[in-house]
Amino acid sequence: MTDTVITRFAPSPTGTLHIGGARTALFNWLFARANGGQFLLRIEDTDKARSTPEATQAIFNGMEWLGLDHDGDAISQASRADRHAQVAQDMLASGHAYKCFATPEEITAFRDAAKEEKRSTLFLSPWRDADPSTFPDAPFVVRLKAPRDGVTVIKDKVQGDVTIRNDQLDDMVLLRSDGTPVYMLAVVVDDHDMGVTHVIRGDDHLNNAARQMQIYHAMGWDLPTYAHIPLIHGPDGKKMSKRHGATGVEEYQALGYPAAGMRNYLARLGWSHGDDEFFTDAQAKDWFGLEGIGKSPARFDFKKLENLCGQHIAVMEDADMVREIENFLAATAQPALSPEKVSGLNTAAYCLKERAKTFPELIEKAAFILKNRPLKPDEKAAKSLTDEAKSLLGELTPHLQNVSWTRDALEAEMASFAEANGTKFGKLAAPLRAVLAGAAVTPSVFDMMLVLGRDETIARMKDFGAT
Ligand code: GLU
Repeated sequence: MTDTVITRFAPSPTGTLHIGGARTALFNWLFARANGGQFLLRIEDTDKARSTPEATQAIFNGMEWLGLDHDGDAISQASRADRHAQVAQDMLASGHAYKCFATPEEITAFRDAAKEEKRSTLFLSPWRDADPSTFPDAPFVVRLKAPRDGVTVIKDKVQGDVTIRNDQLDDMVLLRSDGTPVYMLAVVVDDHDMGVTHVIRGDDHLNNAARQMQIYHAMGWDLPTYAHIPLIHGPDGKKMSKRHGATGVEEYQALGYPAAGMRNYLARLGWSHGDDEFFTDAQAKDWFGLEGIGKSPARFDFKKLENLCGQHIAVMEDADMVREIENFLAATAQPALSPEKVSGLNTAAYCLKERAKTFPELIEKAAFILKNRPLKPDEKAAKSLTDEAKSLLGELTPHLQNVSWTRDALEAEMASFAEANGTKFGKLAAPLRAVLAGAAVTPSVFDMMLVLGRDETIARMKDFGAT
């Protein structure tokens, strides 16, 4: 085996990219990147009845959104069926597999009798050591000649040593009677051929590992290092499902969570590096190791996800924030931004990024940039536009014509205007938010004025009769 780390993500394209699958992909990606290795993608599409092109596309889209770039082209498992069958033939030739002519009825009869006699119901084929001269001219399956005694020990980097008695594993079928290979064989052959050094996957595959190891042994192939990670649970400790909230990666994208926050949160879901909660991709790639993966299932915590997403938005480069908003609008089939709005967002970025956890929240805060005049205040904002407030704004407008357009000067002007009118700036803020943004939740009034500029600020005030 080479020294280069090679990991893979091997999803079955039967639905959306589940949050658990995305976390598995992320761990494999991080481990490969942390070790200067390769991260491969294999689409396990052998189940023709359940695999769909749409589901494959959903996997590609989800991984692209999450920024989990894989090395080389994605591999279709189904396209390698001939190679899988060939390996079964090789095992047959080397005596590690055998032809089994037992019919389904015979197997059922075997099991019924075993049940009655209170013996193990694992099928023991009478053909395991049969003389080829006795073979009938009848359909057969190819079975692995698995060891009957001793134990198989999975040396798992997360679960520790997991010991399975070989007499609890039957001689699994490798080739069906129509000559098609079974899934378990395909996984091992593909992992071997792809040079996979580390198999990091959900612990629902732990039992498969013992059977898969038997195939490695039969072929004399080096075993990969296994790391079976506990599944993700919902906040109530039960297996994560729709009941708890979004489970598909594309749902999180549509809800407007930033991919960087999502990566950070998913990395923390079952893996830790000391007490670090917030970290960058560069740090995660630097720190990631299998020893940091916990043994018990992690609970999905939506609040924590939002909190981390907010922190990632706050530290985004302005240009990245704008690009991500544009991507979000495109992914959710919303109209694209005009060049003017893009440039406005760039100017306003500094006052938008704080305290927004998702892109929809950012967009809401950016309403003063994104909406066109004349603004139509939302219900809450409209309430602050009383006659009294409007007349105050009317008196304020001429003051804004001459003041120099800096934060200090605007703050001083506003304070003295409020004082002269026997009020406080706080009283002016709500109606100003209403006329400048049409909303009650906005960046600070001064930030909006500075971003909009004098002419636009005054024009918006005048739109509301503040002459
Ligand atoms: N295709 C399997 C799944 O989607 C993964 C198999 C593996 O990682 O070995 O659960």
